[in-house]
Amino acid sequence: MLSVIIPAFNEGELIEKAYYTISEVLKNADIDNEIIFIDDGSSDETYAKITYLSNKEKNLRGMRFSRNFGKEAAISAGLASAEGSCAVVIDCDLQHPPEKIVEMYRLWQQGYEIVEGIKKNRGEESKIHSFAAKSFYAVLSRVAGFDMSHASDFKLLDRKVIDILNKIPERKGFFRAISYWVGFNKTEVVFDLNKRAEGDSKWS
Ligand code: UDP
Ligand code: MG
Repeated sequence: MLSVIIPAFNEGELIEKAYYTISEVLKNADIDNEIIFIDDGSSDETYAKITYLSNKEKNLRGMRFSRNFGKEAAISAGLASAEGSCAVVIDCDLQHPPEKIVEMYRLWQQGYEIVEGIKKNRGEESKIHSFAAKSFYAVLSRVAGFDMSHASDFKLLDRKVIDILNKIPERKGFFRAISYWVGFNKTEVVFDLNKRAEGDSKWS
């Protein structure tokens, strides 16, 4: 089974769309799955939507944080609760193309233990955001010793990797980088960043 982990912060208008789009892609590819939403302390109807859908759809479940802890914490909680033989982390706003999950899963079936989603472009963002991100990755890549400028949180991990990440005691992780650091048999899938399906970026 594949676990799909979706962090969601004030994504009320997108829960259903994300669930049905991803579910349909996996159904067509005949991939057994569970879809886990982590409501990261939203103040809108995100959790109500998750609960409503989880009563209807057997492959969906959700959890809710007591406040906004940030996407990293939501990913960690998702990984801790995933029951699949592998898991994919994907954004709720469909910027990560769901059909790429199938490509990632097929690579996992061939024996890869980490499949990194690599951004071909950075989508549309303001000049200041672009500058800030560029500077951040320049420093990070320098310190880490590998190029992270096209890295993303969109990735698939084998159960072995999930179990190890779950044991790392760091309170403030950086998921995007840690999957590079942890080793294992790795490959990449390149994707075009879609436009956010609804609403605005949740980053300040
Ligand atoms: N997100 C989250 N907690 C936060 C901020 C964002 O769980 O504090 C989720 C958000 O709902 C989305 C993903 O992380 O599923 C990426 O966020 P967003 O699309 O706002 O980021 P961007 O695409 O602008 O980098
Ligand atoms: Mg986004």
